[in-house]
Amino acid sequence: MSNSNKSNGKYDHDIIDWFESVSENAGHVQTQTLRRILELNYGVEYLRKWLGDINIHDMDACALESLFTSVVPLASHADFEPYIQRIADGDTGPSLSQQPITTLSLSSGTTEGKQKYVPFTRHSAQTTLQIFRLAAAYRSRVYPIREGGRILEFIYSGKQFKTKGGLAVGTATTHYFASEEFKIKQKMTQSFTCSPEEVISSGDYKQSSYCHLLLGLFLSEEVEFISSTFAYSMVQAFRGFEEHWKDTCNDIKQGSLSPRITSPKVREAVLKIITPNPCLASKIQSSCEELQNLNWSGLIPKLWPNAKYVYSIMTGSMQPYLKKLRHYAGELPLVSADYGSTESWIGVNVDPSLPPENVTFSVIPTFSYFEFIPLYRRKQDCISAIDDLFEDEPVPLSQVKVGQEYELVLTTFTGLYRYRLGDVVEVAGFHRGTPKLSFICRRKLILTVNIDKNTEKDLQLVVERGSELLSQAGAELVDFTSHANIAKQPGHYVIYWEIKGEVDESILGECCREMDASFVDYGYVVSRRTSSIGPLELCIVERGTFKKILDHFIGNGAAMSQFKTPRCTSNQGLLRILNLCTLKRFQSTAYD
Ligand code: AMP
Repeated sequence: MSNSNKSNGKYDHDIIDWFESVSENAGHVQTQTLRRILELNYGVEYLRKWLGDINIHDMDACALESLFTSVVPLASHADFEPYIQRIADGDTGPSLSQQPITTLSLSSGTTEGKQKYVPFTRHSAQTTLQIFRLAAAYRSRVYPIREGGRILEFIYSGKQFKTKGGLAVGTATTHYFASEEFKIKQKMTQSFTCSPEEVISSGDYKQSSYCHLLLGLFLSEEVEFISSTFAYSMVQAFRGFEEHWKDTCNDIKQGSLSPRITSPKVREAVLKIITPNPCLASKIQSSCEELQNLNWSGLIPKLWPNAKYVYSIMTGSMQPYLKKLRHYAGELPLVSADYGSTESWIGVNVDPSLPPENVTFSVIPTFSYFEFIPLYRRKQDCISAIDDLFEDEPVPLSQVKVGQEYELVLTTFTGLYRYRLGDVVEVAGFHRGTPKLSFICRRKLILTVNIDKNTEKDLQLVVERGSELLSQAGAELVDFTSHANIAKQPGHYVIYWEIKGEVDESILGECCREMDASFVDYGYVVSRRTSSIGPLELCIVERGTFKKILDHFIGNGAAMSQFKTPRCTSNQGLLRILNLCTLKRFQSTAYD
């Protein structure tokens, strides 16, 4: 152990040193990163279309950077779709990248309603390993953990399938959990996940969650921290535990496995690990009885006494689950995990002790070439506007300014060039020479009926205001989504809430009014005043509705690890579920 202790400490030191040095010269590193991407992919069809036959090898890196950004246009996923489709169909020619693309990732897509294929290469898995190790090194400086300990990880591989051309398709997390890099990470960080591979890849998130918890409890003394990719799946798992904890205790007592686990492979793998432990079972049982009386407040430290922190993505669309996570975590620190997308990893959290509300992500300048489109709330000398934001010309990483909002643009090693990611970030400061980004929201407008424009962030703030009244009345918001209903004139916003606890109808009516009055977008306010947008409608859906929505998405190929509840939907399948499950409807009186 002492040997591995030393070597692990050295790994941590090395990787932090590496990052500190590349961030010191981030601007220069970015220029070199672009050069590497373009040299590696020299001659691919997409680049030839814009760069022609220019011999880039003889060019100075700075000249190449200005040539690239002036000749290659900004692009969206739709621009790459025909190329990716050909790759999916088996075309092995160098259309986007010189490295053969043998795997495609599905971005979760639930934020945009449609899943997208994105190229995945060895580079993708390697950068995942690198950022996980880097983040672990920064965490261990603040919250040291015992080497050789366990992580209770709520991780799930989604389904994988083959395209017509024989390429493996799955989510990026699915590819990662199946990769060699996932094993290497455990060895290098000397932290081992509680569940065997069969549990992670069972394909049924309910069975996997049950087993993750069972094994996490069976090994509870060894668990050093609790984690998931996005906070949603952790909250979902603990909510499930509130219901089935007695079965879990029984399994620990008898060394058995509940019949709810039907997959033979999972049964075999789990039963190989657990043995009867009546003493532990009765300890967990009495803790659960106590916790039940506390509405499960402090569940995590009570059941995992050696856990040092809870680790997951808690920003952006995960923020609404933070309250529940804090409730479960009690005094344990919540550490917000890194920022990335299926297309590329972006930034690492170098200040793990910051609360999730204040977390920033330091851009890793070797992972991709990043550009930043300045966004303004009011018109200046800007070129275009696709929503309520006005844009200026993209700037390289070296020219970003603190306090300014930007849309991110990526040029990746996997064959995406000047790809608009659609995320809005704000530069909050610098880590040495690299920007620290705060995640603001997805750029896409989600609620719009006519001249009104509201983003996911706007909706989130409004729902927070409304749900304060709910909390004061002793109830809890489980989840929410929305819909811009334009089927009847005038159109109006519908917000769907699943709640836990009993509340008076008068309070729900008040929540509805409060939300309607809290949209500050000028277009909305004016339209409501002139009745060109009708009163906001609040629909209370029955308990378990959002679980049905999750099942609907999983059934259509989404992966639990990357799932994000869509905050607005026009998807007919989803609306059918929501409307069938609606128990009560309220209409706002805000502008009466
Ligand atoms: P995916 O579709 O699963 O690739 O999700 C990628 C998207 O998830 C990003 O473009 C962001 O919108 C969001 N995301 C990823 N990491 C974070 C983070 N740390 N904080 C907030 N949002 C994030």
